[in-house]
Amino acid sequence: MIKTDCVVVGGGPAGMCAALSASENGSNVMIIERDTSLGGILRQCIHNGFGLHYFKEELTGPEFAHKLRVQVEADKNITVKTNTLVTKIENRKVEVMGQNGVETIETKAVILAMGCRERTAGNISLCGTRPMGIVTAGVAQKMVNIDGQMVGKDIVILGSGDIGLIMARRFTLEGARVHAVLEVNKTSSGLRRNIMQCVEDFNIPLFFNTTIFEVVGRDRVEGVWYGQVDEKMQPIESTKKFLKCDTIVLSVGLIPEMYIAPFVKTSPVTKGAVVNEFYQTEQEWLFSCGNILHVHDLVDNVALEAKQAGKFASLYTQNKLPHQSKEIAIIPSKGFSYVLPSRLYEGEGTVTLKFRLREKIVKKTIVAKCNDVNLGQRFVLAGVPGEMMTLDISKNGATGEIVLEIN
Ligand SMILES: Cc1cc2nc3c(=O)[nH]c(=O)nc-3n(C[C@H](O)[C@H](O)[C@H](O)COP(=O)(O)OP(=O)(O)OC[C@H]3O[C@@H](n4cnc5c(N)ncnc54)[C@H](O)[C@@H]3O)c2cc1C
Repeated sequence: MIKTDCVVVGGGPAGMCAALSASENGSNVMIIERDTSLGGILRQCIHNGFGLHYFKEELTGPEFAHKLRVQVEADKNITVKTNTLVTKIENRKVEVMGQNGVETIETKAVILAMGCRERTAGNISLCGTRPMGIVTAGVAQKMVNIDGQMVGKDIVILGSGDIGLIMARRFTLEGARVHAVLEVNKTSSGLRRNIMQCVEDFNIPLFFNTTIFEVVGRDRVEGVWYGQVDEKMQPIESTKKFLKCDTIVLSVGLIPEMYIAPFVKTSPVTKGAVVNEFYQTEQEWLFSCGNILHVHDLVDNVALEAKQAGKFASLYTQNKLPHQSKEIAIIPSKGFSYVLPSRLYEGEGTVTLKFRLREKIVKKTIVAKCNDVNLGQRFVLAGVPGEMMTLDISKNGATGEIVLEIN
């Protein structure tokens, strides 16, 4: 049996940063990656805008991944197994399938860093036929940027998530016509900079409260019936219009997929594991970070989070994780869709809370309170659900449930 201090599942930016940090803190680490090389989704994100916070320079996705890969390859404490799939995790044992067949790795800690997958036509119960020409934005991104293949000529994008917005610009630059981006909600879940730079700058129509009523086409997509929805998300028949297109690109959300560790308690909102301030799940030897924990907007935040998770996992393997006292729950009030971590230990120091808003807010203060004690607050000029936000809180004074509020 292979033995190591710490196994990292997934060699994307989260996995590489977690491994580097665990090694820096004294552990031997093994990264298991199912793909042919390290880098994760970043390998197909050829646009720039990455790394401003983490590397303090503007990089493309592959450049960001390359910088981490060079550090991982130079680190003597890190072993990398590519072309190897983790199939099961159980009781500090990781089962993998690779070039040597099925193997088991015995470890003191596991860090989950498997990223997430895209929601499909089936996930959103898209009505109509299922002809060729319906693709998710990530698959389209891989086809165009890595395989050098266009997905179609006349495109409608459903959902205004970041990947869809970025692909609207990419398709246009490659000569296709993006006829519309349809968003069922009243706001976009994408970053404001992507709405401006990828859609508005290219005069691509972006319709809110609007969705596809029906896909039309037998062998290939021929068009869509689309229109507005009411406040209960029901189609308003009188607004129904036909739009001719040969391709529908879905950008309708990402979901962490925990199938290799189904015993882990997950959040019904994020679908990722429920963790404490050390990114530790309810199984004390199992840690989680990056998109498998919650979907991030920026890879820089993924990298910073993974560094923390790697450090705590390494300290755990050396019995050096700070002594745990009483657990305190952190509860988001109704203006938030979630807050992470969901619990911390009573004591001293600072913890960074990560959260997403349910609706847009303008000139509001976000406060974390325990009874009447203010543990931390920040003024928000404008905040939208598409942006992950943070708030540093002091643990001093947190003796019971902490509530996150918008004032
Ligand atoms: C399609 C897509 C496009 C994106 N585009 C952008 C963008 O343009 N800009 C931006 O800032 N962010 C983008 N993101 C967000 C981006 O995912 C994150 O910023 C970051 O890449 C997440 O890092 P990660 O390491 O958590 O996940 P990933 O980068 O997804 O890496 C996860 C790795 O785990 C591996 N893996 C999964 N399961 C297993 C298993 N069972 N065994 C072994 N290995 C496994 C995968 O092969 C993958 O290499 C995009 C996300 C997606 C899904």
